[in-house]
Amino acid sequence: MIALYPGSFDPITLGHLDIIERGSRLYDHVIVGVLCNLSKNPLFEVSHRIAQITEATNHLPNVKVDSFTGLTVEYAQACGATVLLRGLRVLSDFEKELQMAHTNKTLNAGLETVFLATSTEYSFLSSSVVKEIAQFGGPIDHLVPANVAQDIYRCFNKTPLVTLNLTE
Ligand code: ADP
Repeated sequence: MIALYPGSFDPITLGHLDIIERGSRLYDHVIVGVLCNLSKNPLFEVSHRIAQITEATNHLPNVKVDSFTGLTVEYAQACGATVLLRGLRVLSDFEKELQMAHTNKTLNAGLETVFLATSTEYSFLSSSVVKEIAQFGGPIDHLVPANVAQDIYRCFNKTPLVTLNLTE
């Protein structure tokens, strides 16, 4: 069974990675679909996001990274996915996600949206939280995959003020 995990991933966080890792244990294949969303003002180009996610998931052989435009349901159909994977953090996610799942169901009744509850340690984490901290040079290595943190600082033209030592 193929699951599509669609999103902006601008940038990918450890919360996203956690959903991808857990999804890859549940499904034969997981496709991470980076949405080319023209209405947003992204920090990273789609091709850069694909490279970041590919590097962060290279330990997961059944995960593939791609990008798409247009309707998620159409892309899901084109790549043979029968499941849309989404993550839920807080109640506000639920409202938005449920509306999206119902809408997608009206567009393709054969496509099931499956929600994975966030792991507790990532329940507060979003791409925007990471960007807010990084623009002031705050520590983000505990929030994003190692290969992504430097990219983000570079984008904001910052060097990190502090690095957290998580092994202590
Ligand atoms: P979108 O622009 O579609 O909201 P995001 O990249 O922000 O894309 O998120 C993609 C999916 O990952 C969404 O279902 C979102 O709820 C989920 N997600 C984001 N952050 C986390 C997290 N920390 N834990 C679990 N799921 C998450």
